[in-house]
Amino acid sequence: MQTSGVEPYASRLQEVQQRIDAAALKAGRKSEEVTLIVVSKFHSAEVVRAIHACGVSNFGENRQQEAEPKAAETADLDLNWHFVGQLQSKKARAVARFASTIHSLDRGSVVKALSSIDGTVDGFIQINLTNDAARGGVAPENLLQFAETILETPSINLLGIMAVAPLDELPRAAFERLAKHSAALQAIAPEANKISAGMTHDFEEAIEFGATHLRIGSAITGERVISD
Ligand SMILES: *Cc1c(COP(=O)(O)O)cnc(C)c1O
Repeated sequence: MQTSGVEPYASRLQEVQQRIDAAALKAGRKSEEVTLIVVSKFHSAEVVRAIHACGVSNFGENRQQEAEPKAAETADLDLNWHFVGQLQSKKARAVARFASTIHSLDRGSVVKALSSIDGTVDGFIQINLTNDAARGGVAPENLLQFAETILETPSINLLGIMAVAPLDELPRAAFERLAKHSAALQAIAPEANKISAGMTHDFEEAIEFGATHLRIGSAITGERVISD
């Protein structure tokens, strides 16, 4: 059983926010430039309600079959849903119906599927910082060509670039590369200047290298349980 009371979420959120503020200060940045997305995967809609009651409106999910019902159960709240997981083209349109932002654009078939949605969706290009092509994300050498495809798709508003730091490398080294890829992207798409990076164990390093959208789960939700 999970509590639907606002504790302990309020105190964890406060602690994370203080760490964000401190990291931003240290980096000479303003913490208002940094959007906190609470990743609620494996947690119930009641947990989302409790965290929303603490002042959070941006939530992230990584699986369509879990996210869609959760978004429906919380439709009475004014929430922004962010899709952060690997996305198949056959699910892309369904995701765009509840998510305001897709952080994991990494293939032409998904872009094509999104080209015919009603309205628009915000998107990040996910870049693969590992040497393992099976991980999500476009290879760095394909970044600009893929960006061109998105820029030709009026229904996608390209915000910037997203990555998950590799497990076998120091996060600072990975985020330094990510910042360079962001600069390369901005050379062809000046508006696409946002960086989605930073999770529970590396968000301070991500802020140091320019992250504007943090995707933080367990530091706020607590340990994930498979069934609530
Ligand atoms: C789960 C997840 C997160 C949050 O991870 P934590 O380590 O719990 O903060 C962030 N980004 C993606 C893509 C995820 O799948």
